[in-house]
Amino acid sequence: MKTVAVTVPAKMCAGCSACVGICPKGAVSLVPDEWGYYRRAVNEALCVDCGLCTKVCPALQLPETGNSLKPECYEFIASDDEILRKSSSGGIFTTLAAQILAQGGVVVGAAWRDDFAVEHIVVESEEELWKLQKSKYLQSYMGNSLCRVKALLDGGRLVMFTGTPCQVAGLRTFLGKEYDNLFTVDILCGNAPSAMFFKKYITEDFGDRLKSYEFRHKSDKKRWDSIHVQITLNDGKTFTRSGPKDDDYQRVYHNHVMCAPHCEQCRYQAFPRMGDLSIGDFWGIKRHDPELDTFKGVSLVLCNSEKGKKLFDEIPDDAWRVKKQVPLEWMGGNGHSLKGGKNWCGPQRDQFYEAVVKMPFKQAVVYALGPREKAKPKKKSFKKKIKGGIRCYQENGLRYTLNRIFEHLTGKA
Ligand SMILES: Cc1cc2nc3c(=O)[nH]c(=O)nc-3n(C[C@H](O)[C@H](O)[C@H](O)COP(=O)(O)OP(=O)(O)OC[C@H]3O[C@@H](n4cnc5c(N)ncnc54)[C@H](O)[C@@H]3O)c2cc1C
Ligand code: SF4
Ligand code: SF4
Ligand code: SF4
Repeated sequence: MKTVAVTVPAKMCAGCSACVGICPKGAVSLVPDEWGYYRRAVNEALCVDCGLCTKVCPALQLPETGNSLKPECYEFIASDDEILRKSSSGGIFTTLAAQILAQGGVVVGAAWRDDFAVEHIVVESEEELWKLQKSKYLQSYMGNSLCRVKALLDGGRLVMFTGTPCQVAGLRTFLGKEYDNLFTVDILCGNAPSAMFFKKYITEDFGDRLKSYEFRHKSDKKRWDSIHVQITLNDGKTFTRSGPKDDDYQRVYHNHVMCAPHCEQCRYQAFPRMGDLSIGDFWGIKRHDPELDTFKGVSLVLCNSEKGKKLFDEIPDDAWRVKKQVPLEWMGGNGHSLKGGKNWCGPQRDQFYEAVVKMPFKQAVVYALGPREKAKPKKKSFKKKIKGGIRCYQENGLRYTLNRIFEHLTGKA
């Protein structure tokens, strides 16, 4: 048998759906595994053993992209405050999407479903763009979206496809050729946990009372990188949780304890990257560019192909307040591209995976990471603060250190 069920070990399957889309007999589907990851499954009764599914699997063979091994790197902040508020970082996604929609194109990306799973959808108007905005930190179900993209492309529509690098890789192998009317945008991706983990967490915490859960919530009081979530219940109650400190899901996410085996072995983020453009959060940018006003969020953009660079260059001047080329090295470990694409996985991952199928989510988190109190940073003594200040000065210089002290004193830290 030449099917992906035989040639691709389940743990390597990223659920990109290229095999689902290519199968001429409709014999392949995506089925959740024990931990809820969408994995390839083959109905042997329908299969004619043509081997096409294996041929397009990016886990076995990465697509040729012709993309740059040393792309230009930019910091980007959109001009519109409303876009910044609705975006995870500096609003590059919405800015690019608006450009495509204005030309009569469509945008494909990840949206919440009513049951709090995430799936790829096609958006045709600016009014619907909110569905794709903001990061949803769980694996997006691809369904038949690749076939929809192909039909749109073959029909001559302009398409911008966005997703994790493995999803962009799957689209490329599935299409098997370049389309002038296609732009691909991959996101820098730390890992995408299964929808089952998230569902378990919210169901145990809120039952059926949850109306919305917004990762990367922004407010006027907190810096963009303070990674808050905003939770709204059906009775109208709204509250925020401040990242790993008081949200269990964020705690295991940011400790990379939910990192799936295929994410640990991620082969999609080394240079050359998969998308015409790569977008992410410019973590740590203040260290390199202390003058930059980062409060509302900063995006990192990589121009991997000429096509991507053209789209980026064509962003109208009034749509951005910062668009500046910076050294590629400033991206550091983010996206793992500079480190050959290898992702990192928390040492307690196996413990968490063992526990989460047997016990409540919160208990599994404690089993893997210990009680939350232990994770709380201890209040620094005055002596430690001085030492930290000296180290900061030595590493980053006087101006950066003074900026940090000012932010701390004014409560913006
Ligand atoms: C699972 C995941 C892991 C990430 N890891 C990192 C990281 O390690 N480092 C980093 O710099 N940035 C990471 N990001 C990207 C980052 O959080 C922002 O999405 C990115 O900076 C774009 O921000 P924005 O301000 O342009 O707009 P936003 O409006 O926030 O961007 C929305 C875009 O993200 C896509 N998207 C949202 N959720 C998903 C999903 N579940 N699967 C696929 N695509 C999705 C949408 O389709 C849309 O294209 C991650 C995002 C996700 C979803
Ligand atoms: S093509 Fe994608 S979904 Fe299919 S087996 Fe390979 S990685 Fe999994
Ligand atoms: S029919 Fe071909 S593409 Fe479909 S499952 Fe069988 S080998 Fe794979
Ligand atoms: S870490 Fe790699 S394999 Fe995992 S979702 Fe992101 S791009 Fe895909």
